[in-house]
Amino acid sequence: MENLFANCNLCPRRCGADRTGGRTGFCKMPDHPVVNLIRLHYGEEPIISGKNGSGTVFFEGCSLGCIYCQNYSISRGPTGRGIEMDKDSLADAYLELQAQGANNINLVTPMHFAPAVADSIGKAKASGLKIPVAVNCSGYDLVQTLKLFDGLVDIYMPDMKYFSSKLSAEYSKAPDYFTVCCSAIDEMVRQTGDIVMGPDGLIKKGVIVRHLILPGGLFDSKHVLDYLTSRYGNRIYISLMSQYTPMPGCTGKLKERPSQRSCESLSDYLASKGQINAFVQEYDSCGNEMIPDFLT
Ligand code: SF4
Repeated sequence: MENLFANCNLCPRRCGADRTGGRTGFCKMPDHPVVNLIRLHYGEEPIISGKNGSGTVFFEGCSLGCIYCQNYSISRGPTGRGIEMDKDSLADAYLELQAQGANNINLVTPMHFAPAVADSIGKAKASGLKIPVAVNCSGYDLVQTLKLFDGLVDIYMPDMKYFSSKLSAEYSKAPDYFTVCCSAIDEMVRQTGDIVMGPDGLIKKGVIVRHLILPGGLFDSKHVLDYLTSRYGNRIYISLMSQYTPMPGCTGKLKERPSQRSCESLSDYLASKGQINAFVQEYDSCGNEMIPDFLT
């Protein structure tokens, strides 16, 4: 079988790096998963975290690389603190999280390791993993890479960060972000189908699209919500996040938090679209509630 880490084209950067030969591309990551943290996490949307927490595996690196990244300490390449894991050790970790009572397995930013991570899910399911598996990603994902997860992933949690190519170029060096993200979310919805909730109030299947409100980004956010509500409506869940916190190195508008007024206005706008499957983060929780525990 072709080794997808050689001549790597796993994400839209299409670096062509031979990661099997020790080279790296834009994501700066090797050809085997590097995991920064494995733990029960209580800071996701209530339909994911529930009371027991989400069994979260944080992978290092990212192929999008937003300049304001809220997880910057583990997303900007190897930290030196990561643990190299293969499909067997990852599968064991998922089973251990299940044994600890996790509501689901939540794989955070795994796309640049997709072939190995897909194998690990298959292995874990064959070894008794019963809880839903969620993939939490930037939305800057190729359909061909997402297809590696077809039949293995129950829940996708992509971002849809931008509508404007000017913003996505400026903040993420990805002028094609919106087009790529639209195709990616179509594929995710195709794989999972509409939202399925369990009697425990937790999501079992479906797509949760997250949108982080950026300072000065009110109109772009409205375009994103227009697109998501008109294309999918309540077939998907929309999570509107107001947690934006300026990170070291941010300049210009990105040094500020979005205003409370713009966050409340977007919340009202989403409600006016008839979106019932929605979670809107409280403005006062900015800066901590949904930022991973290890960064707060
Ligand atoms: S996964 Fe990494 S190496 Fe591969 S194309 Fe994307 S950024 Fe480049």
